[in-house]
Amino acid sequence: MLKGLGWDSNVYLFRSGKEALVIDTGTGKNAERYFSLWLGEGYLRGLKHVIIFNTHEHFDHVGGNLVMKRLFERLGVNVLFAAQRITAEVIEKAKSSVILDYAYGKRFEGHNVDIKLEDGDYLKIGKRKLLLIHTPGHTAGSSCLYLEGKNRLMFTGDTLFKGTVGRTDLPTGSRKELRKSIEKLADFEVDFGLPGHGWIIKDWCGNIEAVRRFL
Ligand SMILES: [Zn+2]
Repeated sequence: MLKGLGWDSNVYLFRSGKEALVIDTGTGKNAERYFSLWLGEGYLRGLKHVIIFNTHEHFDHVGGNLVMKRLFERLGVNVLFAAQRITAEVIEKAKSSVILDYAYGKRFEGHNVDIKLEDGDYLKIGKRKLLLIHTPGHTAGSSCLYLEGKNRLMFTGDTLFKGTVGRTDLPTGSRKELRKSIEKLADFEVDFGLPGHGWIIKDWCGNIEAVRRFL
């Protein structure tokens, strides 16, 4: 996990064998710094394939997509983009009204999304597979990724944070949908919730219980 700098979302790198998953890329302003850090730590050694996944459509999560892709490609790594279908379409059309790039004084450069996922689909990384859970509310395309294993992880994007939930007043947001999405997440057993901003959620059930109070 890389705690996002400035306005950036958190950026996660998950590796299995010669493949890796990058979850969200921040605004792009610090993408090279994140990449250098991974490189310096040796996390990218022997890497062949990367999937860059976006938890949702906002600029602070997708702004670094193309910078990150170019950095990996310079290393000879093959890069694919993945997102839930609605998020993918917004990225491909570079839909400013949803991406909100103008709020950061930037123009998002749209690009092709190779893998379009629906609720219940799996994303395969090396020997592991992550389940896509469509969790609209913060935006229409917002999704979480769930990984089973010794440590059960849930990448929550801006749907669920430590002690709070994502705002629902932005375009395509819906409080009603978010409420349903949180209930969907409540059914999963999770050891660590990994949100799009802020800190790790260690008490999954307690956290959901706490956010229910103001939903
Ligand atoms: Zn967001």
